[in-house]
Amino acid sequence: MSALTLLKSEPAKAELSPRLLSVGGLTPLTTTDYPGCLSLVVFCQGCPWRCGYCHNPHLIPRAGDQAVTWEWVLAFLHRRRGLLDAVVFSGGEPTLQPSLIDAIETVKAMGFKAGLHTAGPYPDRLKRLLPRLDWVGLDVKAPFDARYDRVTGIPGSGEKARESAALVLSSGVDYEFRTTLHPSLLTRQDILEMAEILMEMGVSHYALQEFRPLGCADAALCDFTESGGLFDPAFYARIESRFHDFSLRHA
Ligand code: SF4
Repeated sequence: MSALTLLKSEPAKAELSPRLLSVGGLTPLTTTDYPGCLSLVVFCQGCPWRCGYCHNPHLIPRAGDQAVTWEWVLAFLHRRRGLLDAVVFSGGEPTLQPSLIDAIETVKAMGFKAGLHTAGPYPDRLKRLLPRLDWVGLDVKAPFDARYDRVTGIPGSGEKARESAALVLSSGVDYEFRTTLHPSLLTRQDILEMAEILMEMGVSHYALQEFRPLGCADAALCDFTESGGLFDPAFYARIESRFHDFSLRHA
């Protein structure tokens, strides 16, 4: 998920509404959040997980300071018809909000493609959303066992993520799976194992992204000096060979 950009010109602060998407901010134009598309990114408020390396920790609480309202985003999008290709729902965790399905349908009706950044904590909700989506970026944080919980801070998170991964793969929707690398949270063995699992599941589009301290609220994670060999080009080459389409994103 990319860095958050708030539009400072937005004057309103709205009450949270169960019917309307709760928005924590937006990036009005990006070329990197939906492959091949000029996109607007809506950062959705709230996430059920607690990853130490989260670089949008202010979006984790369910209720935030709504500096941008969904109505304002829609008005802005209306003026961007023909100039933007897609709207990407990011976060936080967009699938936390039941109103996401309406938001996706609304932007599709306006003629935009719909993209989703998710960590997959709600597979049942994701299943309902997938037929409406054009592209999904799914975070895979660790092998789907107790090591997952170590990253998210939430027991059982790996099983939810595994279910979501399988749903994305069987949906036929374009996707990218991606993993953030931090030497305190994943070893080389963990990453190799994860790559093996994903390959066996049929994943063909995969990206590794080096941890960026920007925005991270965990001082211990920000202050690391030993990479444990994670950032060694020869190591990346071993992962790359397992996937049809592989990207490496440096910090
Ligand atoms: S799942 Fe994503 S938004 Fe939620 S805490 Fe983890 S990194 Fe942050």
